[in-house]
Amino acid sequence: MAQLTGQDSRKLLTNLRDTLAEDGDGQARLDHITQLVSESLGTQVCSIYLRRDRQTLELCATEGLEKASVHQTRMRYGEGLVGRVAKEATPINAEDAPNTKGFRYMPETGEERYSSLLGVPIQRLGEVLGVLVVQSLEKRKFSEDEVYALEIVAMLIAEMKELGAFIGDGEAMTAPHKRALMFKGGAVQEGAAQGVVLLHDPQIVITNPVADDPEAEKTRLNTAMDQLRISINDLLSANKAAPANDEQRDVMEAYRMFANSKGWMRRLEANIDSGLAAEVAVEKEQSATRARMARVPDPYLRERLHDLDDLSNRLLRQLTGQGRQAGEALPENAVLVARNIGPGELLEYGKGLAGIVLEQGSVGSHAAIIARAWAIPMVVHAEKITVESLNGDIILVDGDQGIAHLRPDDSVAAAYREKIAMANQAKERFATIKDKPAQTRDGVRIEMLMNAGLMADLPSLGNSGAEGVGLFRTELQFLVRNKMPTRDELAELYERVFDAADGKPVTFRTLDIGSDKVLPYLRPEDEPNPAMGWRAIRVGLERKGVMTMQLQALLRASKGRPMRIMFPFVAQFEEFQQAKAMLDKVYANEQRLGHRVPSELKVGAMLETPSLAFAPNQFFEMTDFISIGGNDLKQFFFAADRENERVRSRYDTLNVSFLTFLELICKRCFELGTPVSFCGEDAGKPLEALCFAAMGLRTMSMRPSSIGPVKNALRSIDLSEARVVIDAARVSGDQSVRKTMQAWLDKQG
Ligand code: PEP
Ligand code: MG
Repeated sequence: MAQLTGQDSRKLLTNLRDTLAEDGDGQARLDHITQLVSESLGTQVCSIYLRRDRQTLELCATEGLEKASVHQTRMRYGEGLVGRVAKEATPINAEDAPNTKGFRYMPETGEERYSSLLGVPIQRLGEVLGVLVVQSLEKRKFSEDEVYALEIVAMLIAEMKELGAFIGDGEAMTAPHKRALMFKGGAVQEGAAQGVVLLHDPQIVITNPVADDPEAEKTRLNTAMDQLRISINDLLSANKAAPANDEQRDVMEAYRMFANSKGWMRRLEANIDSGLAAEVAVEKEQSATRARMARVPDPYLRERLHDLDDLSNRLLRQLTGQGRQAGEALPENAVLVARNIGPGELLEYGKGLAGIVLEQGSVGSHAAIIARAWAIPMVVHAEKITVESLNGDIILVDGDQGIAHLRPDDSVAAAYREKIAMANQAKERFATIKDKPAQTRDGVRIEMLMNAGLMADLPSLGNSGAEGVGLFRTELQFLVRNKMPTRDELAELYERVFDAADGKPVTFRTLDIGSDKVLPYLRPEDEPNPAMGWRAIRVGLERKGVMTMQLQALLRASKGRPMRIMFPFVAQFEEFQQAKAMLDKVYANEQRLGHRVPSELKVGAMLETPSLAFAPNQFFEMTDFISIGGNDLKQFFFAADRENERVRSRYDTLNVSFLTFLELICKRCFELGTPVSFCGEDAGKPLEALCFAAMGLRTMSMRPSSIGPVKNALRSIDLSEARVVIDAARVSGDQSVRKTMQAWLDKQG
């Protein structure tokens, strides 16, 4: 193989790029590229294998192997040397290929004559799109420079594929980001939406991947790098103002060090010297970082590589001017597509999103709760959707089935329009019972309350038919800010909530932070298990200043009106006693200062840990009400993380054990005269809600959009009959009553 100088490499890249401008189809371009590469590198064979689907590669062009094998020879990822390059996203440099472990002989290609093989991944942003291979007759080891030269060519092929240069017959030849794809994930919030993709981390589109003038490219790179360093210094000095611990400072310094790394800069400049445009030079290094990230087991190293990945993204945004700036307006009908998202970030996007599709995520996360509160159709676990979508692509979200269709074809799109129309009809039907009571056919009346957390939720109080707010999650107000709100700001906000409720009861829950709700200005220590860590009332009782401030704001906001306050995540009686004592103290102080206090104050606890169900009678006597937080209660009852879809979905809420446990809680509350309600997400599902009612619950709080469907179900059934069906299912040995109850409910029409 001939040694390529920087100049040769640039010439080759320019020639390759020029194939883009040639007449002819994708196949002709690919054929021409294999010719050019084998000629310039002086090898007997050059072949391009492209990804046919997520598991298979297909030989799409070759110079040197049997032409008849093109589009016939296929291999799975991991199969043979070529498959291994794709799977591991690293080059294979085999001097004696036939005797290298993993070699698989493909007789139709006639490759048995060739001794040595060099294969490099064709990848873009860590996503393997294919494999570029050269083979030689003579037995030889390719030098590092040769490997590098081939990687540069592969990088250009990846960019050309992205630009749709190889479109032709068959799956492997379709341009990425053009074909229709379906993603089957998990359903979080029902509803159907049609919209356009808004990537949380958008992909960068590069139209000219070749450096026509390397010096000019280097100047562009240097300017962008200077900008990047300035922005990082700003970021660091802003963070320095806030007290950071040593470890945090170390991490930030490491970040700065990367931005100033000479090695990184040297590699980027070398890529440009070889003929790549500055953006592609950055992408090449980023792909390598991502491949390394997937391999290193050490979490500290992985985090550092993650920093480098993040810096590359920032640098790409500088170079291309593409990417979303904070505070930018949302496009119309935007469907947010992200790997994962926290509740704070989702709140920043706001209520205007038409849908949300995540690669990871979970039904039990707080981001999911927000999506449900806003009735935004949401799908989680849509594998690889972030690499397949581009900003602006048409997307359909089916929140009932947990499906997203990217760039749907016409028939799918038409079916969706139908579905959306039907959902609108159902909404109209629910509107007709908005002011009617949720009363079962045998006369049992269920109080229907709604969950809220933001001012924007309150108009739903009138629209949904809710009789009050059963859970006001106060932490959402803290999550939308980047600094602690003041007491006056909070008091003003809570007063507006009172005003909007217009006499309907509102139950304010004190700050429930920790676990996945992290405030940037009140970060917990790194905890091995945050869901069971320093959260909710545990923080409130230790950081007394924050809770006192919030309690003052709440009492003041009442302006003499009746008020309900509850404490989250109480696990034992003493915690409630301590919290109540704090409230009593604040109350007395408010009175002493001459502020108006609520005309009536009811103080309750959330029952979210099984332990509290077995608290002494005195606990139940002391609380004015209890609200079952089913999301957390279920996670601790089954020991299954609510955010880990894999384990969460194993356990059905209608599991006989869980229903029996709820019945036990209701019984204790009735016997001791404590009003009890249920405010977890499951109350918003019709079948679950009527089973809860059959277990004794008479008050439920749910997202506003669920009130119509749940009320509709309750009004159509006879609760005592439902109870008989559940009891029969319970003694039958069934694990869950779901099947039996669903069949019974369907029969009710
Ligand atoms: C719950 O745990 O059920 C609950 C209502 O609280 P959150 O979902 O905010 O943890
Ligand atoms: Mg909870």
